Amino acid sequence: MTLDEKDRAILDVLLRDGRASLRKVALLTGLSTPTVSQKLTRLTQGGVIKGFSVRLSADSYSGSAIIRLAVPPAKLDEFARSIAFEEAVCYVLATTGEANLMLGVALAHPKELPDLIAGILSRFPNVKHIDSEIVTRVYKDEHPPISAVAETRLVCDLCGGIVTSKRVYRLKVGHGERRFCCKTCRSQYIAKYSGRLTKLTDVSNLP
Ligand SMILES: [Zn+2]
Repeated sequence: MTLDEKDRAILDVLLRDGRASLRKVALLTGLSTPTVSQKLTRLTQGGVIKGFSVRLSADSYSGSAIIRLAVPPAKLDEFARSIAFEEAVCYVLATTGEANLMLGVALAHPKELPDLIAGILSRFPNVKHIDSEIVTRVYKDEHPPISAVAETRLVCDLCGGIVTSKRVYRLKVGHGERRFCCKTCRSQYIAKYSGRLTKLTDVSNLP
């Protein structure tokens, strides 16, 4: 979906203060409360806003690490989607280079890292561990500036296709949500991953 100036203004306010009320957002953007409400619904359904949550101070992370892996390109997509289910995995980035997948993981203690890596490698023998580092200090961990958000495209969590239709099929997974282009993709996703998911709720097919 394409963002207009009003969307950007709303996001700008909410990125600074996610708890701002509709009235406050309206006041700060010069928009009416119904407009803000309508735009927020669109931004949420369009997948631009993933949710509202608390941001912990980087100092409160007891330990985190970066793991770089080399995954056969043909298996990359499947592996990345699968590893994203691990609770300890905070982010999964496909990258250029020999190590084509980077994982950000949260650890209760840095000593857990070798076991975590060994666990991944034993379950996925095609994957090669390139290197990993313990994060010693976080100097900055922020969302990209709103000026960098040009256009977002909602991608189906099963087939990877762009969700072009106005209808987004949703599924609640743990604390997050998966989105699909069609009913079939959602059913296939449930069939494929239900064994691995502890909390799975069929939300609805929103118009
Ligand atoms: Zn799909």
